[in-house]
Amino acid sequence: MANDILIEIKNLSMYFPITKGIIRQQKIAEVKAVDGVNFFIRKGETLGLVGESGCGKTTLGRCLLQLIRPTSGEVYFEGVDLCTMASDHLRSIRQRMQIIFQDPFDSLDPRMTAGEIVAEPLRVHTRIRGRELREKIAELLKIVGLDPSMTERYPHQFSGGQRQRLGIARALAIRPSFIVCDEPISALDVSIQAQIINLLEDLQGEFDLTYLFIAHDLSVVRHISHRVAVMYLGKIVEVANRDALYRVAKHPYTIALLSAVPIPDPIVEASRERIILRGEIPSPIALPPGCNFHPRCPIGVEICQKEIPSLREIEEGHWVACHLA
Ligand code: SF4
Repeated sequence: MANDILIEIKNLSMYFPITKGIIRQQKIAEVKAVDGVNFFIRKGETLGLVGESGCGKTTLGRCLLQLIRPTSGEVYFEGVDLCTMASDHLRSIRQRMQIIFQDPFDSLDPRMTAGEIVAEPLRVHTRIRGRELREKIAELLKIVGLDPSMTERYPHQFSGGQRQRLGIARALAIRPSFIVCDEPISALDVSIQAQIINLLEDLQGEFDLTYLFIAHDLSVVRHISHRVAVMYLGKIVEVANRDALYRVAKHPYTIALLSAVPIPDPIVEASRERIILRGEIPSPIALPPGCNFHPRCPIGVEICQKEIPSLREIEEGHWVACHLA
């Protein structure tokens, strides 16, 4: 593994069994939420992970952090496979890997003050107490743009954007090197979204952070990502540097997603064609044979219904899972 790589996942799968029976449970099917995924994230990089709701991106983020133990595959953090690691050892590594959730209101305990929320990881993982702890909390609140005088407030006394800042302060408290940002701006007003993106970018530079930034559309990740991975029904279908992906996307699914991203130039916007995909996303319980995307693909050919396309590097750093790419 190259030494500029912080995270590498190999052939990662997460299948959730569907069972019947109460006493003797019998597996009758499985949901393939994540299915044989491979990618890496370099130190200090932001990898955007994009896909429609239910494509498995949140499950993938949680498997990466081992919040859910994957069904199979490997997750390397600084060259060490987390999937084979015992729980107590994993706990110490997890301090360096944090998560920021989509809805900060759901993820913050409403009975705890802002100060208690930020202090919690410090109490669990460090020996910082008393005055030093209070100073640390004030410093963290300041770093994320909150006034330290807000320490005694409860989550409901903050606005949505302020709550997300609080969630970021909590994630930063024990100085992680990697953060999964799980749709951190989806629940926020458009006017606040840019502020949170800017904050995350500033923090990345200041604290040398590496991000997996999950979002459901390509317009959100464009600004913040160095590279972008596109996910469809549990599989990565395209990975490329941001500029290459937005300029010359190769996978028909990525091209369709890009056609929905607004372009600021009104003349270009008026002249381009939006690609509407036919049909619904197939159920992850009954995946189609061959390429997962073939029932909706506008350019599919016969082989697509029989053979699963592998993720191939078609240009340096540009990976695509399509027979026709
Ligand atoms: Fe479309 Fe075939 Fe490519 Fe799948 S492999 S995206 S069905 S062309």
